[in-house]
Amino acid sequence: MAWTPLVFLRRALLLIFLVAGLTWLFAQTSLYQRLQGWSEDELHRLLGPVLDMSNVVVIDIDEESIERLTLSHGPWPYSRDLYAHLLRHLKDQGARTFAIDILLAEARAGDPDLAALLDGNSIVAAAAFPRPSSQRSEQYLRQLTQAALDSAAPLTGRPAAMRPPALKWPDVTLPLPMFIAPDRARVGIITVRQDDDGTLRRLPLFHEVHGRLFPGFSLTAWATPEELARMEVRGGEVAIGGRSFSVSQDGEVRLRFPSQVRDLRVLPLHQVMPAGATSTQWRGKTVFVGSSSILLGDFAHTPIGRMSGLVLSAVASQSLAAGNVLRPMAWPWSVALLLLAMLPALFWMRRQEATLPSGFVWALSATLLLVVPVGMGLFRQGYSIPWLLALFAGLFALMIAATYGMLRLRSERERLAYERVALQEASRMKGEFLAHMTHELRTPLTAVIGFNKINQLNDAIGSEQRRRNSAIIAANCEHLLKLVSDNLDLAKIEAGQMELASAAQSPEVLVSEVMTTLGPLAAEKGLILDAQYERPLPAYVWMDAMRVRQVLLNVLGNAVKFTECGRVDVKVSWRDDVLEITVMDTGPGIEASVAGRIFEPFEQGESGPRRRGQGSGLGLSIARRLVRLMGGELSLESGSGPGSRFMFWIPARVATVPRTEASGAGAVDIVRLSGHVLLAEDDEDIRALMQRELAGIGLRCHAVEDGLQAVHACEKERFDVLLMDLEMPIMSGIEAVQVLRANGVKAPIIALTAHGLGAQTEMALSHGFDAILVKPVSAEALALKLSAHMAPGKTSEHWS
Ligand code: ADP
Repeated sequence: MAWTPLVFLRRALLLIFLVAGLTWLFAQTSLYQRLQGWSEDELHRLLGPVLDMSNVVVIDIDEESIERLTLSHGPWPYSRDLYAHLLRHLKDQGARTFAIDILLAEARAGDPDLAALLDGNSIVAAAAFPRPSSQRSEQYLRQLTQAALDSAAPLTGRPAAMRPPALKWPDVTLPLPMFIAPDRARVGIITVRQDDDGTLRRLPLFHEVHGRLFPGFSLTAWATPEELARMEVRGGEVAIGGRSFSVSQDGEVRLRFPSQVRDLRVLPLHQVMPAGATSTQWRGKTVFVGSSSILLGDFAHTPIGRMSGLVLSAVASQSLAAGNVLRPMAWPWSVALLLLAMLPALFWMRRQEATLPSGFVWALSATLLLVVPVGMGLFRQGYSIPWLLALFAGLFALMIAATYGMLRLRSERERLAYERVALQEASRMKGEFLAHMTHELRTPLTAVIGFNKINQLNDAIGSEQRRRNSAIIAANCEHLLKLVSDNLDLAKIEAGQMELASAAQSPEVLVSEVMTTLGPLAAEKGLILDAQYERPLPAYVWMDAMRVRQVLLNVLGNAVKFTECGRVDVKVSWRDDVLEITVMDTGPGIEASVAGRIFEPFEQGESGPRRRGQGSGLGLSIARRLVRLMGGELSLESGSGPGSRFMFWIPARVATVPRTEASGAGAVDIVRLSGHVLLAEDDEDIRALMQRELAGIGLRCHAVEDGLQAVHACEKERFDVLLMDLEMPIMSGIEAVQVLRANGVKAPIIALTAHGLGAQTEMALSHGFDAILVKPVSAEALALKLSAHMAPGKTSEHWS
């Protein structure tokens, strides 16, 4: 079934809403968080930028350095002379920045020496704590303010709108005041936050402790105090030193981790000490000093692997300097990506009837092909995008479309199964119908052929017996004709071609006509036939008298037929535009077991012996269908036991105008006509019969065997009327009539056909015939039809 655009739009919207709901639910699960983390880490490893760290040197206080330097500088923690010594050397060598990733919070020997060397290009670490350690003194808070002012430039004093968002902490451990006094080192907070899975992906740019703002260690190591002072804050964007970072409300950025780190020099401390031991070029370098010793240092899991806090600080600092930060995609683009992911499912849903399994593979591949490259491309451009969510949205859409498709397929299969059963049933019924018909035809035909043979071959039977045999033949022929007419009626009703013609009719007249028709049979059997009319009864009602008569004839005929002695009563009543006719008899009645079937075609009960010509089992089924066609109902009302009671009602509005036409019942006077008729009929017997009938009406007749002969005859003679069989050899009636009309023949042409139904008769009329006569044609019907086209002759009482 093809979908209209509107239906498609409705289904598409439903799918989108369902998928949006499912995707939202899925995004809340820890599974999604884990998968998202994992996929982003893979993307970092695969697509991260190359990070140039040639201007960074990391001096690592590793296990070996601790071991070696213990001999010369005593055990850890070393006196601060060591750092002073190192710093002096680096300054001499022109190093740019000196970042100490060690918490210098406790006093040691050599502190004043080191403090004297620290200046604005030096950074010392402070550690923020998730829990307040104790009540801090006023003096500490003053120190804090000073440290913040010194290290983060005038951030603290900025109006709220211009302050960058920051990660809030209850407390912080600062280095000794002498290191961070004005004109000494700046402070950078080293504390970072990990995701739930223990991996570090985000980096706080700013921290807030007791209302004071501090930059993170990595940021301080890269940005100069002047750059920090000129920092601009716009919405979620913070611009520092020509770089713009998307910052979360917690002051964190999502780092773009490098897939490759180039030219990073990590020197163990023991190689650098004593100062000048290496040939390293220090000019312009940013030097990180810290520890990766298991005893001292912290390690962090990052998307690109495990690294010491020291190396992480250096990598993060350089990543910031290079602007390697992910920025979230604007929500309209995220929505567009989600919709893009659903596209293949939508298209598949539209076409899936034809291609269910292969279509699924196609749609799945299309989803992956759309989402994965787009996701990767955008990630490469530095966007943090919900591509995994989009992928799942695509998969959910496919799942829904597949479920929908399967349900449709199932209902389609069910429909086909029902159709198959219906077809089988129809074919069974057709077989049964043919079997019945064959049987019903054979029986009277056997009688016709048999008795005819006796009459033909047996001269000795005498004229009396011959007449009786002819009567039997005639009765059987009547029965055959009724059978054929009944079948035609049934076929017409079932094909919806039975048309009703309502007219003003007298119900009383109609009933009495039927009573008159059946009177002789009832009298022959000694039955009392009586009708009661419940008054008031309208003089005229609207109904199709022919069909009502057919129904009543059947029901009343059955009553008379099956009742052997007693009486048959008809009750007629009318109320509220409904005519009700009940027929009761004192016959054998109808067994409950067959009562339900007698309205089916060919179903006959066990009511008395079935005699020749007594019926085919079609009567009641036609009667009920006719009554229903009229909008009423015919039902059997009697229970089991003797006597039957049939009732039918039909809608019958009161009519004031009486019908003017003569009723069709009763003996018909044969009209006598005069004129010259051409008869074209290929069947010799019918030709002979009709010639005789035409002569009986008083007409002269010229008979021919096919259409061509008819055309020739018309060229020689003039006829008042042409009677033309439709199906003839050499030239059919339809062809002949076309030639005749083309030749200028104006006389009325009447078609003769054995087809009682539809198409052929309509075709005949459309091809130039003036009227139709359906075979077998009785003399009365022939005369009546011809009288419309010919001059009247002398009327006779009866034709024989
Ligand atoms: P038919 O009369 O040609 O057999 P119908 O369809 O008119 O077919 O009737 C079906 C069957 O219903 C009859 O064969 C007969 O057994 C039963 N039937 C109908 N009317 C009566 C009746 N008044 N009394 C007893 N049986 C009846």
